[in-house]
Amino acid sequence: MKHDHAQTPFVLPLHTRDGLRNDQRGFLLCLDRISHNCQVKLSLVLFKQEGAIVSVGLIYDPIYLQHDTEQHPENAGRLVNVINLLEKANMTEQVVPVAPRAATIDELSKVHSKDYISYVESFAKAGGGWLNADTIVSPASYDVALHAAGGLINAVDTVMTGEVASAFALVRPPGHHATRGEALGFCLFNNIAVAVKHSIDSCHLERVLIADFDVHHGNGTQDTFYEDPNVLYFSTHQYPFYPGTGRVDEIGARQGEGTTVNVPLPAWCGDEEYLRVFEEILIPVARRLQPQLIMVSAGYDAHWGDQISLMQVSVTGFAEMVRILKTLADELCQGRLVFTLEGGYLYEALASSIKATLDMLLGNPDIADPLGKPPAARRAPPIDAILQAIKETHRLS
Ligand SMILES: [Zn+2]
Repeated sequence: MKHDHAQTPFVLPLHTRDGLRNDQRGFLLCLDRISHNCQVKLSLVLFKQEGAIVSVGLIYDPIYLQHDTEQHPENAGRLVNVINLLEKANMTEQVVPVAPRAATIDELSKVHSKDYISYVESFAKAGGGWLNADTIVSPASYDVALHAAGGLINAVDTVMTGEVASAFALVRPPGHHATRGEALGFCLFNNIAVAVKHSIDSCHLERVLIADFDVHHGNGTQDTFYEDPNVLYFSTHQYPFYPGTGRVDEIGARQGEGTTVNVPLPAWCGDEEYLRVFEEILIPVARRLQPQLIMVSAGYDAHWGDQISLMQVSVTGFAEMVRILKTLADELCQGRLVFTLEGGYLYEALASSIKATLDMLLGNPDIADPLGKPPAARRAPPIDAILQAIKETHRLS
């Protein structure tokens, strides 16, 4: 059939809009915003629906190295090591490069107060220093932080338009501790919260799942969506531990009651415990929500070699978590899966874990784990009672 894309609504060859499922409307509305390029986008979406695209976007820019924190554990060397490994393994040729942009003040202010945003700007531009006891900034940090949040927004857009199947935002500073009016735990702006707000307000999604496997609880992300019925926040984290939040009974409030799912884990948990949590808690929670997009706060600081925590996850364990997330995204939301980097401070473990994440997203068969299992593993305490409490709290079968 001859089809004039310049004059005809581009969704017609697929379906009428009324015939679309709810989860398809979101990205079509996103597509509306780029209608000048609709013919290309339409064909990409068609390919995606047939399962032909396995492309993975990688958001990265050297600007992220300009957040100069010197000898702080969260430093530019983290990303330098990741990029070096990805280049050595020819991974940079397998992914689709996606350029970041600066998030706008309007976009940031859906999560942060305008006073806080301008405070970070003026503090950095005045020369920087310690913004609080654990968060340091340099003169460029404000601009870098805008590009971290904006990079993740671009990641969401490229996935929602079908340009790539999934995406990884290799950004810093991290974000999940930052609250409405406060920097915390190496985080300036809450990148994932800003990007999720964008997916709801601009792409008109109604159900988004955030899965946070960083070893710390993402208190800022939880706060942002605590009363929001559209966003389910799921977190695994060492507990008790920094920042002190993330108990089982923190479940959300008002309309958002039940949309915060915390899995506080004792020290020494490893692959077996984390995968059990994903199988027994995350999978039923995700299936009940039926998300239209899955966002992941990917912190790799639960690795056994990372000195910041007492967990014992291996690179292989992270890869298996990614496998579950990808399977859920394929099953529930046409594969739409966006990762953003949070923590992870042992260079080799971080680089290998991110490579393994990308290998899993790309469908590469061999996942390398050069660090292996912990050499002197400690036995994790039983987690049956914690899992039972979570199942009862959230009425999971
Ligand atoms: Zn962390």
